Amino acid sequence: MNIHEYQAKQVLKGYGAPVAEGVAIMSVGEAETAAKSLPGPLYVVKSQIHAGGRGKGKFKELSPDAKGGVRLAKSIEEVVAHATDMLGNTLVTKQTGPEGKQVNRLYIEDGADIERELYLSILVDRTVGQVAFVVSTEGGMDIEQVAHDTPEKIITVAIAPEKGVTAADVAKLNEALALSGDAAKDGESLFPILYKAFVEKDMALLEVNPLIVMKDGRLRVLDAKVSFDGNALFRHDDIKALRDESEEDSKEIEASKWDLAYVALDGNIGCMVNGAGLAMATMDIIKLYGAEPANFCDVGGGAGKEKVAAAFKIITADPAVKGILVNIFGGIMKCDVIAEGVIAAVKEVGLTVPLVVRLEGTNVELGKKIINESGLNVISADDLDDAAKKIVAAVQG
Ligand code: GDP
Ligand code: MG
Repeated sequence: MNIHEYQAKQVLKGYGAPVAEGVAIMSVGEAETAAKSLPGPLYVVKSQIHAGGRGKGKFKELSPDAKGGVRLAKSIEEVVAHATDMLGNTLVTKQTGPEGKQVNRLYIEDGADIERELYLSILVDRTVGQVAFVVSTEGGMDIEQVAHDTPEKIITVAIAPEKGVTAADVAKLNEALALSGDAAKDGESLFPILYKAFVEKDMALLEVNPLIVMKDGRLRVLDAKVSFDGNALFRHDDIKALRDESEEDSKEIEASKWDLAYVALDGNIGCMVNGAGLAMATMDIIKLYGAEPANFCDVGGGAGKEKVAAAFKIITADPAVKGILVNIFGGIMKCDVIAEGVIAAVKEVGLTVPLVVRLEGTNVELGKKIINESGLNVISADDLDDAAKKIVAAVQG
């Protein structure tokens, strides 16, 4: 689960990290009040969307020369002008995809005088099986570009879980970021703070880009992007409350209500499968025959008719779907239950695209009989290979 920058900063501030004063707002009037409550004379007006690259992003509705999704302002009037310009418009960044994201909320922040922009993130480094800091002196810009062009400028410091952030780790990080004096002192307290927040809140990623050294020599968290491990959310009601469903795929939200493992993808063949491994294999074979899956969907082992119908409806609700492949290996899950769920859903929402069903396993004969006698226009398949060929052929016409 992802949260907004302003929320991430609140979480980090709770642990004692240095962040600027700021106010999240949703209207121009609130922007003015917010700016008046800040010390000035420099303000920053920041689009709050679940995507990075906002500074270099462009608003669809504004001229290409207009400023991006993060703007500096030197007066309250300028804050108001930027807020008027940005609110309600669609910001396109490298991370939003071409459709962009509507900006409904801005964060008005006290501006900092920047001396240097650094990169810092914390993640689970699976190659060493430890939480690790990834840092670079080359912050503030596209870190992927730095990783590609000058990988030696990115330094990883893994943290031993039984020790936490040691003095030696701090020294390594301070050196990697070329921090000295007050900034190095700030690092001594900041690195353990960020590590504690990461571990205690079950974060999957904490990215501070940039972490800045200010003109006065002190450190500040200038941007913060945090995502949490969804499997640990049950023990963090405070974090769950930060969820902004308007930033998420509506099909994924509906799927999560039914406890379906569903991930929206870019292709045009909808898939409904039982079992994550079989779902992956189904996506692979669709690609093997030259098409792309529209989603990953695992209805699970013990799904009933209603859950199957819900999954089918979510899949057909995607306008990109031009054909559907149902691939079920009945074990605990019985083929007749799947057949009934599919038919119930089709009766409710109709079927406007080709549907290929491959059933195998428990009650397979009964399942096939139910589908054959339903009068639905279903293409049946004998095995996975056959099913994939048939749906790809049907979609590519
Ligand atoms: P992103 O583009 O989505 O990563 O948004 P950031 O929060 O990282 O802001 C983009 C850039 O705006 C930063 O790299 C800074 O150069 C600039 N910026 C953001 N806040 C301030 C500030 O308080 N003062 C100054 N001078 N620049 C800022
Ligand atoms: Mg940034």
